[in-house]
Amino acid sequence: MTWPLAFSRADAITRDLANPLRAFRERFHVHPDTIYMDGNSLGPLSHDAEEAILAAVQSWKTHGIDGWTKGERPWFWLGEDLGAKQADLVGAHPDEVVVTGSTTVNLHALVSTFYRPQGTRRRILADDQNFPSDLYGLKSQIALRGHDPATDLVTVASRDGRLVEEDDIIAAMSDDIAFAWFSSVNYRSGQLFDVERLTREAHARGILIGFDLAHSAGVVPHRLHDWEVDAATWCTYKYLNGGPGAVGALFVHQRHFGTTPALAGWWGYAKDRQFDMSPDFSGATSAGAWQIGTPSVLGSGALHGSLAITAEAGIDVIRAVSLDLTGYLIDLVDARLADLGFSIGTPRDPARRGGHIAIEHPDGARLARALKARGVVPDFRPPTTVRFSPVALYTRYVDVWDAIEILHDLASTGAHLVFENERAVVA
Ligand SMILES: *Cc1c(COP(=O)(O)O)cnc(C)c1O
Repeated sequence: MTWPLAFSRADAITRDLANPLRAFRERFHVHPDTIYMDGNSLGPLSHDAEEAILAAVQSWKTHGIDGWTKGERPWFWLGEDLGAKQADLVGAHPDEVVVTGSTTVNLHALVSTFYRPQGTRRRILADDQNFPSDLYGLKSQIALRGHDPATDLVTVASRDGRLVEEDDIIAAMSDDIAFAWFSSVNYRSGQLFDVERLTREAHARGILIGFDLAHSAGVVPHRLHDWEVDAATWCTYKYLNGGPGAVGALFVHQRHFGTTPALAGWWGYAKDRQFDMSPDFSGATSAGAWQIGTPSVLGSGALHGSLAITAEAGIDVIRAVSLDLTGYLIDLVDARLADLGFSIGTPRDPARRGGHIAIEHPDGARLARALKARGVVPDFRPPTTVRFSPVALYTRYVDVWDAIEILHDLASTGAHLVFENERAVVA
């Protein structure tokens, strides 16, 4: 889409009227005095999710233990059911996705299975910009095999401390790499990797590859099955609006069904025989095999409502609106803030960015605090990144406009200088 460079608040309102998703905002609890730009960290509560949580509580109240097999949504099939409901979002077959664990726990379940060091092919390939928890997980997986993470975790370095070049990653896919793990969208810069290309190049070199989709699930469509991605995980509390600490999701490609999960537990057992209580593990022939223990019924309850909203809007429309909103945000930063020391840390090419924009400024930490005091909720990632995520389902163009005007006001008057240039405990 193209936009006239006649920026004004009235123009922002006109854009809102043309937004095909504009009606979805009413489905969410949005605070009238707040401009919420942090949906990439924690999506807001929707009325649909609220009802679904209450239904989960009601089901417990009504059925007690029988809730596992009775009621509208019997809990026994919860992980499989909520997994199938996300299959379209990531381009998977319904049985390739299951809701279980959390992103980091699922990383361990997947990496422990698919990282199989043998002889000289024994290293893991990652990049130095990945989310710290992913790097901790990969290092501890290497240490678990009795190897040294200092030599066996190969991290491709960013050239500019922000973006990581896919060509550099591919050049590092050497014969000593057994497994590769990347985030589809970088949590700080918002850079989107070409998941298909990295998967193809890894496989051409005999490397298995997995992805953390925490910052793309629900905002960037994927085709994990067709691209033959080996494994993936993501959280459901960011763009999927499942609530703080909501149960995560994982994907295992169909061709790995039948592989024994390295971290087995009874919830991964073939479901029709789980209650035979055999001492020997026999896994489900689905991604469900990678579940470990009993899923949290209340911790995933919201997803019945929130995923329905995402499905109704459609991931391709969400992506189109998201790109238009982030493109608009980039244009406003260029037009209004460039002279005040701000720059864009996210790739401008729509094919290379996810759902949030990294706005860079040396005073980022105190600007984030000052924005919050003025009713704009961004977040901050050290050293200098203020993240803004205008979310297609509930953020208006006029919100983007107002947020940038407030940022302009703060930076041009120096009103942010009364705040300390330090991040908060939870930034
Ligand atoms: C948010 C996020 C996580 C969070 O992991 P949890 O186990 O859910 O706490 C992990 N990895 C990435 C890339 C993230 O963005």
